[in-house]
Amino acid sequence: MKILVINCGSSSLKYMLLDMKKQAPMSSGVVERIGEDVGIITHKDLRDGERKFREDHPIPDHDVALRLAVDHLTHPEHGAVAGVHEIDAVGHRVVQGGETFKAPAVIDKAVTEAIRANIPLAPLHNPANLTGIEVALELFPKCPQVAVFDTEFHQTMPPRAYIYALPYRLYEELRVRRYGFHGTSHRYVARTAAKLLGKPLEKTKLITVHLGNGSSIAAVDGGRCVDTSMGLTPLAGLMMGTRCGDVDPAVFTFLADNKGMSIKEIDELLNKQSGLKGICGMNDMRDIHEARAHGDEKAQLAFEMFAYRVKKYIGAYLAVLGGADAVVFTAGIGENDDFVREAACSGLEQLGIIIDQTANQGRKTEACPVHRPESPVQVWVVPTDEELEIALASRAALS
Ligand code: ADP
Repeated sequence: MKILVINCGSSSLKYMLLDMKKQAPMSSGVVERIGEDVGIITHKDLRDGERKFREDHPIPDHDVALRLAVDHLTHPEHGAVAGVHEIDAVGHRVVQGGETFKAPAVIDKAVTEAIRANIPLAPLHNPANLTGIEVALELFPKCPQVAVFDTEFHQTMPPRAYIYALPYRLYEELRVRRYGFHGTSHRYVARTAAKLLGKPLEKTKLITVHLGNGSSIAAVDGGRCVDTSMGLTPLAGLMMGTRCGDVDPAVFTFLADNKGMSIKEIDELLNKQSGLKGICGMNDMRDIHEARAHGDEKAQLAFEMFAYRVKKYIGAYLAVLGGADAVVFTAGIGENDDFVREAACSGLEQLGIIIDQTANQGRKTEACPVHRPESPVQVWVVPTDEELEIALASRAALS
């Protein structure tokens, strides 16, 4: 079985074709700058090592973008399939499923309408995701298609975790509540970690820590998410590359009153000018390490704040779960950054988390334990694979 995974953004389209027998990618690619003067498609043939192809020319819309991707996927020389008929299913990443979707959904008219109905909750993302679905339905009319939501894994949270302490009618009228994101990643690493621990997922308590450009953390009890750090939007919780994470919501009023900023300007400030970048001007953790090695105090502060916030949430989720079998780090920073992992776990020995400094050293490209043998709570790095998870979820939804 071959499944094409599509992740459609407002000006980009990422895709990956997976061979489900091997659970491995055959090709992947990204189309960027859709709608701009010059667009770029970068395609990789991954069947035997990696062969890369790049084209620059105008890509006016997502329809053209997906057609270009299909041209590469079916290319006589480097295409992974002879024609689109060889693609058995398409899995779409959709950001916001609201309360409607608690599991992946096989796409039909009712499902696309429900994704549309959730646009107010994700005005930047769901329209782009829908465009990807509409274009794919036209290009692969005979192929079953599945929507996999960033939010669905977190739909198992109890009301005490997802209801905000706002007037309850706002939840009733507008569904203002915590949703959580990165669900495919949390689900994938939780399942993988349970296997590595040699325990049934249903009997495992895990804290999954996804640290990338966007970061979130989840408390997972028996495979079910019981709390997570992101909220109504992906702005809440941990400190991120450019997003502030948790702040006093009164910052809004304060900035409006004292700097005359509009709601839009403040929203942009919190989402794009804050986080690591807001503190030290850099949002890539590699640059931050380099700068702090040269004595940059703001870079040092940004690093400390980032790790401190992760540590606070680990402590909180140990309380939520009543102890954990393992803390699992994943994504760009979680997999690659031993400084962050060590700083986030240091001082938690009394809570049962004892990291092994030697095992923790360096980047991890494969799942591995990084705790001391006597650590009651294990600490693991598990590389995430969101595309594979979307493909697996799509296959499961269709079977
Ligand atoms: P996204 O949220 O965009 O999917 P990723 O999970 O790919 O993000 O993570 C990207 C981030 O990972 C980068 O911004 C960078 O801070 C961090 N990162 C990547 N490689 C390394 C590394 N070797 N050491 C430290 N941080 C890294």
